[in-house]
Amino acid sequence: MLTEESLTRMADFYGEQLVEPSSPYIAFAAKADGVTITAYKKETKGLHKVLFQGPSASYEAKVWDKLDKTPTRQDGLLEKAEEEFLRQPKTLLKWRDQIGSDEVGTGDFFGPIIVVAAYVSMGDTPLLKNLGVTDSKMLSDDKILDIVPQIIKTVDYSQLYLPNDKYNQVIRQGNNMNSIKAKMHNRCLLNLKARHPEAIVYQDQFAEPSLYFSYLKNEKEVLREIHFETKGESKFLSVATASVIARYSFLRHMELLGEQYRTHFPLGAGNLVDEFAREFVDEHGMDELNNVAKTNFANMRKL
Ligand code: MG
Repeated sequence: MLTEESLTRMADFYGEQLVEPSSPYIAFAAKADGVTITAYKKETKGLHKVLFQGPSASYEAKVWDKLDKTPTRQDGLLEKAEEEFLRQPKTLLKWRDQIGSDEVGTGDFFGPIIVVAAYVSMGDTPLLKNLGVTDSKMLSDDKILDIVPQIIKTVDYSQLYLPNDKYNQVIRQGNNMNSIKAKMHNRCLLNLKARHPEAIVYQDQFAEPSLYFSYLKNEKEVLREIHFETKGESKFLSVATASVIARYSFLRHMELLGEQYRTHFPLGAGNLVDEFAREFVDEHGMDELNNVAKTNFANMRKL
Protein backbone atom coordinates (compact mmCIF):
# COMPACT_ATOMS: atom_id res chain seq x y z
CA MET A 1 0.00 0.00 0.00
CA LEU A 2 1.48 3.29 -1.09
CA THR A 3 0.53 6.98 -0.81
CA GLU A 4 -0.62 9.05 -3.77
CA GLU A 5 2.70 10.90 -3.72
CA SER A 6 4.71 7.68 -3.96
CA LEU A 7 2.48 6.52 -6.76
CA THR A 8 3.28 9.64 -8.77
CA ARG A 9 6.97 9.25 -8.12
CA MET A 10 6.72 5.63 -9.10
CA ALA A 11 5.06 6.40 -12.42
CA ASP A 12 7.79 8.99 -13.10
CA PHE A 13 10.48 6.54 -12.14
CA TYR A 14 9.38 3.73 -14.43
CA GLY A 15 8.91 6.19 -17.29
CA GLU A 16 9.72 4.30 -20.47
CA GLN A 17 8.88 0.99 -18.87
CA LEU A 18 5.24 1.87 -18.40
CA VAL A 19 2.88 -0.40 -20.32
CA GLU A 20 -0.77 -0.20 -21.35
CA PRO A 21 -2.97 -0.96 -18.28
CA SER A 22 -5.08 -4.06 -18.83
CA SER A 23 -8.09 -2.73 -16.90
CA PRO A 24 -9.72 0.65 -16.16
CA TYR A 25 -9.08 0.11 -12.43
CA ILE A 26 -5.35 0.27 -12.94
CA ALA A 27 -3.62 3.66 -12.46
CA PHE A 28 -0.53 2.48 -14.28
CA ALA A 29 1.43 -0.67 -15.03
CA ALA A 30 5.12 -1.13 -15.73
CA LYS A 31 7.38 -3.91 -16.85
CA ALA A 32 10.98 -3.72 -15.56
CA ASP A 33 13.70 -6.36 -15.41
CA GLY A 34 12.49 -9.26 -13.31
CA VAL A 35 9.38 -7.50 -12.09
CA THR A 36 6.02 -6.24 -13.28
CA ILE A 37 4.29 -3.50 -11.34
CA THR A 38 0.56 -2.84 -11.20
CA ALA A 39 -0.74 0.20 -9.31
CA TYR A 40 -4.46 0.45 -8.61
CA LYS A 41 -6.57 3.61 -8.76
CA LYS A 42 -8.75 2.68 -5.83
CA GLU A 43 -7.57 4.04 -2.52
CA THR A 44 -8.30 3.07 1.05
CA LYS A 45 -7.52 5.75 3.64
CA GLY A 46 -5.25 7.51 1.17
CA LEU A 47 -3.33 4.36 0.25
CA HIS A 48 -3.16 2.62 -3.10
CA LYS A 49 -2.61 -1.05 -3.63
CA VAL A 50 0.47 -1.83 -5.73
CA LEU A 51 1.22 -5.33 -6.94
CA PHE A 52 4.77 -6.50 -7.62
CA GLN A 53 5.19 -9.77 -9.50
CA GLY A 54 8.18 -11.73 -10.74
CA PRO A 55 11.56 -12.90 -9.39
CA SER A 56 12.62 -9.42 -8.23
CA ALA A 57 9.20 -8.55 -6.79
CA SER A 58 9.96 -8.62 -3.07
CA TYR A 59 13.18 -6.68 -3.55
CA GLU A 60 11.52 -3.98 -5.62
CA ALA A 61 8.57 -3.75 -3.22
CA LYS A 62 10.89 -3.25 -0.25
CA VAL A 63 12.63 -0.32 -1.94
CA TRP A 64 9.32 1.48 -2.50
CA ASP A 65 8.02 0.62 0.92
CA LYS A 66 11.10 2.23 2.42
CA LEU A 67 10.68 5.33 0.29
CA ASP A 68 7.07 5.64 1.39
CA LYS A 69 8.17 5.89 5.00
CA THR A 70 10.70 8.65 4.30
CA PRO A 71 9.88 12.34 4.88
CA THR A 72 7.62 14.24 2.51
CA ARG A 73 7.94 17.58 0.76
CA GLN A 74 6.14 19.38 3.62
CA ASP A 75 8.94 18.94 6.10
CA GLY A 76 11.57 19.93 3.55
CA LEU A 77 13.43 16.67 3.81
CA LEU A 78 12.30 15.25 0.51
CA GLU A 79 15.56 16.01 -1.29
CA LYS A 80 17.39 14.05 1.34
CA ALA A 81 14.99 11.15 0.94
CA GLU A 82 15.37 11.20 -2.80
CA GLU A 83 19.13 11.29 -2.50
CA GLU A 84 18.93 8.25 -0.27
CA PHE A 85 16.55 6.56 -2.60
CA LEU A 86 19.04 6.93 -5.43
CA ARG A 87 21.54 5.03 -3.36
CA GLN A 88 19.19 2.06 -3.06
CA PRO A 89 20.02 -0.93 -5.20
CA LYS A 90 17.15 -1.12 -7.61
CA THR A 91 16.62 -3.80 -10.17
CA LEU A 92 16.06 -1.11 -12.74
CA LEU A 93 19.36 0.66 -12.10
CA LYS A 94 21.12 -2.66 -11.73
CA TRP A 95 20.71 -3.43 -15.39
CA ARG A 96 21.78 -0.12 -16.81
CA ASP A 97 25.22 0.19 -18.42
CA GLN A 98 27.37 0.60 -15.39
CA ILE A 99 30.82 1.29 -14.01
CA GLY A 100 31.89 -0.31 -10.75
CA SER A 101 35.10 -0.15 -8.73
CA ASP A 102 36.80 -2.33 -6.16
CA GLU A 103 40.25 -2.77 -4.67
CA VAL A 104 42.57 -5.54 -3.59
CA GLY A 105 45.70 -5.87 -1.46
CA THR A 106 44.57 -3.72 1.43
CA GLY A 107 44.58 -6.68 3.83
CA ASP A 108 47.82 -8.19 2.57
CA PHE A 109 51.13 -7.38 4.24
CA PHE A 110 53.00 -8.24 1.07
CA GLY A 111 52.22 -6.79 -2.31
CA PRO A 112 50.72 -3.67 -3.86
CA ILE A 113 47.29 -2.09 -3.70
CA ILE A 114 45.36 -2.36 -6.92
CA VAL A 115 42.14 -0.54 -7.70
CA VAL A 116 40.09 -1.41 -10.75
CA ALA A 117 37.03 0.22 -12.27
CA ALA A 118 35.19 -1.88 -14.85
CA TYR A 119 32.57 -0.84 -17.40
CA VAL A 120 29.83 -3.39 -18.00
CA SER A 121 27.29 -2.71 -20.72
CA MET A 122 24.02 -4.60 -21.05
CA GLY A 123 25.61 -6.50 -23.94
CA ASP A 124 28.48 -7.76 -21.74
CA THR A 125 26.12 -9.28 -19.20
CA PRO A 126 25.59 -12.71 -20.84
CA LEU A 127 29.33 -13.32 -21.29
CA LEU A 128 30.13 -12.32 -17.70
CA LYS A 129 27.28 -14.43 -16.33
CA ASN A 130 28.43 -17.38 -18.43
CA LEU A 131 31.97 -17.07 -17.14
CA GLY A 132 30.54 -17.13 -13.62
CA VAL A 133 31.67 -13.65 -12.63
CA THR A 134 30.69 -12.90 -9.06
CA ASP A 135 32.29 -11.55 -5.88
CA SER A 136 35.98 -12.49 -6.24
CA LYS A 137 36.00 -13.82 -2.67
CA MET A 138 33.59 -16.55 -3.83
CA LEU A 139 35.89 -17.68 -6.65
CA SER A 140 39.06 -19.75 -6.43
CA ASP A 141 42.33 -18.23 -7.61
CA ASP A 142 42.48 -20.83 -10.41
CA LYS A 143 39.06 -19.84 -11.64
CA ILE A 144 40.06 -16.16 -11.61
CA LEU A 145 43.27 -16.86 -13.52
CA ASP A 146 41.18 -18.77 -16.05
CA ILE A 147 38.34 -16.33 -16.71
CA VAL A 148 39.90 -12.87 -16.42
CA PRO A 149 41.98 -13.06 -19.64
CA GLN A 150 38.67 -13.59 -21.47
CA ILE A 151 36.96 -10.77 -19.58
CA ILE A 152 39.58 -8.12 -20.29
CA LYS A 153 39.36 -8.83 -24.01
CA THR A 154 35.77 -7.59 -23.93
CA VAL A 155 35.28 -5.32 -20.96
CA ASP A 156 36.76 -1.82 -20.77
CA TYR A 157 38.47 -1.13 -17.47
CA SER A 158 40.84 1.22 -15.73
CA GLN A 159 43.44 0.01 -13.28
CA LEU A 160 45.69 1.75 -10.80
CA TYR A 161 48.52 0.08 -9.04
CA LEU A 162 50.39 1.36 -5.99
CA PRO A 163 53.69 -0.49 -5.47
CA ASN A 164 54.95 -1.01 -1.94
CA ASP A 165 57.73 1.59 -1.89
CA LYS A 166 55.27 4.23 -3.08
CA TYR A 167 52.64 3.05 -0.58
CA ASN A 168 55.11 3.31 2.31
CA GLN A 169 56.11 6.76 1.14
CA VAL A 170 52.56 8.15 0.98
CA ILE A 171 51.80 6.64 4.39
CA ARG A 172 54.82 8.51 5.81
CA GLN A 173 53.42 11.65 4.20
CA GLY A 174 50.30 11.34 6.36
CA ASN A 175 47.90 9.28 4.27
CA ASN A 176 46.01 6.33 5.70
CA MET A 177 44.61 3.27 3.95
CA ASN A 178 41.21 4.91 3.39
CA SER A 179 42.58 8.13 1.94
CA ILE A 180 44.81 6.11 -0.40
CA LYS A 181 41.85 4.00 -1.51
CA ALA A 182 39.64 7.07 -1.99
CA LYS A 183 42.21 8.76 -4.23
CA MET A 184 42.78 5.62 -6.27
CA HIS A 185 39.06 4.86 -6.70
CA ASN A 186 38.38 8.45 -7.68
CA ARG A 187 41.09 8.42 -10.36
CA CYS A 188 40.04 5.05 -11.80
CA LEU A 189 36.39 6.03 -11.91
CA LEU A 190 37.17 9.38 -13.56
CA ASN A 191 39.25 7.63 -16.23
CA LEU A 192 36.48 5.23 -17.10
CA LYS A 193 33.61 7.70 -16.75
CA ALA A 194 35.36 9.93 -19.31
CA ARG A 195 35.10 7.07 -21.80
CA HIS A 196 31.55 6.10 -20.82
CA PRO A 197 29.82 9.25 -19.62
CA GLU A 198 26.34 7.70 -19.77
CA ALA A 199 27.08 4.86 -17.35
CA ILE A 200 25.84 4.78 -13.79
CA VAL A 201 28.67 4.46 -11.25
CA TYR A 202 28.81 2.04 -8.32
CA GLN A 203 31.48 1.75 -5.71
CA ASP A 204 32.03 -1.00 -3.20
CA GLN A 205 31.70 1.28 -0.19
CA PHE A 206 34.63 1.24 2.23
CA ALA A 207 33.90 4.54 3.99
CA GLU A 208 30.86 6.73 4.60
CA PRO A 209 30.33 8.91 1.51
CA SER A 210 30.97 12.11 3.51
CA LEU A 211 34.27 10.69 4.73
CA TYR A 212 35.15 9.44 1.24
CA PHE A 213 34.69 12.93 -0.21
CA SER A 214 36.59 14.55 2.65
CA TYR A 215 39.63 12.46 1.66
CA LEU A 216 39.34 13.96 -1.81
CA LYS A 217 39.07 17.61 -0.80
CA ASN A 218 42.49 18.48 -2.27
CA GLU A 219 42.05 16.54 -5.49
CA LYS A 220 41.81 18.54 -8.71
CA GLU A 221 38.90 16.53 -10.03
CA VAL A 222 36.35 14.52 -8.06
CA LEU A 223 33.64 12.26 -9.40
CA ARG A 224 30.57 12.89 -7.23
CA GLU A 225 27.81 10.94 -8.95
CA ILE A 226 28.51 7.63 -7.24
CA HIS A 227 26.11 5.09 -5.78
CA PHE A 228 27.88 3.65 -2.77
CA GLU A 229 27.04 0.12 -1.73
CA THR A 230 28.59 -2.05 0.92
CA LYS A 231 29.06 -5.61 -0.34
CA GLY A 232 28.78 -4.04 -3.80
CA GLU A 233 30.67 -6.92 -5.39
CA SER A 234 27.78 -9.26 -4.67
CA LYS A 235 25.12 -6.78 -5.84
CA PHE A 236 26.43 -5.27 -9.05
CA LEU A 237 28.05 -7.03 -11.97
CA SER A 238 30.36 -4.09 -12.66
CA VAL A 239 31.75 -4.17 -9.10
CA ALA A 240 32.07 -7.97 -9.24
CA THR A 241 33.93 -7.65 -12.55
CA ALA A 242 36.23 -5.00 -11.08
CA SER A 243 36.88 -7.25 -8.08
CA VAL A 244 37.90 -10.26 -10.21
CA ILE A 245 40.13 -8.18 -12.50
CA ALA A 246 41.80 -6.61 -9.45
CA ARG A 247 42.30 -10.01 -7.84
CA TYR A 248 43.75 -11.37 -11.08
CA SER A 249 46.24 -8.50 -11.34
CA PHE A 250 47.20 -8.97 -7.72
CA LEU A 251 47.82 -12.70 -8.17
CA ARG A 252 49.88 -12.11 -11.31
CA HIS A 253 51.83 -9.38 -9.59
CA MET A 254 52.62 -11.58 -6.60
CA GLU A 255 53.78 -14.31 -8.96
CA LEU A 256 56.22 -11.89 -10.62
CA LEU A 257 57.38 -10.51 -7.27
CA GLY A 258 57.98 -14.11 -6.17
CA GLU A 259 60.05 -14.82 -9.27
CA GLN A 260 62.13 -11.74 -8.61
CA TYR A 261 63.05 -12.98 -5.12
CA ARG A 262 62.93 -16.69 -6.05
CA THR A 263 60.18 -17.39 -3.56
CA HIS A 264 56.39 -17.47 -3.11
CA PHE A 265 54.98 -14.65 -1.05
CA PRO A 266 52.13 -15.67 1.24
CA LEU A 267 48.96 -13.55 1.06
CA GLY A 268 47.04 -12.04 3.96
CA ALA A 269 48.55 -10.84 7.22
CA GLY A 270 48.44 -13.92 9.47
CA ASN A 271 51.02 -16.06 11.29
CA LEU A 272 52.33 -17.59 8.09
CA VAL A 273 53.10 -14.11 6.85
CA ASP A 274 54.95 -13.25 10.09
CA GLU A 275 57.06 -16.36 9.77
CA PHE A 276 57.81 -15.70 6.11
CA ALA A 277 58.65 -12.05 6.84
CA ARG A 278 61.30 -13.11 9.39
CA GLU A 279 62.93 -15.41 6.83
CA PHE A 280 62.76 -12.69 4.19
CA VAL A 281 64.48 -10.18 6.47
CA ASP A 282 67.17 -12.74 7.36
CA GLU A 283 67.92 -13.22 3.69
CA HIS A 284 67.42 -9.75 2.19
CA GLY A 285 67.66 -7.35 5.13
CA MET A 286 65.10 -5.09 6.79
CA ASP A 287 65.36 -2.29 4.23
CA GLU A 288 64.24 -4.56 1.42
CA LEU A 289 60.83 -4.93 3.08
CA ASN A 290 60.09 -1.39 1.92
CA ASN A 291 59.89 -2.73 -1.64
CA VAL A 292 57.65 -5.73 -1.00
CA ALA A 293 55.55 -5.06 2.12
CA LYS A 294 53.28 -2.50 3.76
CA THR A 295 55.54 -1.44 6.59
CA ASN A 296 52.80 0.27 8.63
CA PHE A 297 51.08 -3.11 9.22
CA ALA A 298 51.12 -4.66 12.70
CA ASN A 299 53.16 -7.55 11.26
CA MET A 300 56.22 -5.26 11.47
CA ARG A 301 56.10 -5.25 15.26
CA LYS A 302 56.60 -9.02 15.33
CA LEU A 303 59.86 -8.87 13.42
MG1 MG B 1 35.88 -4.05 -1.76
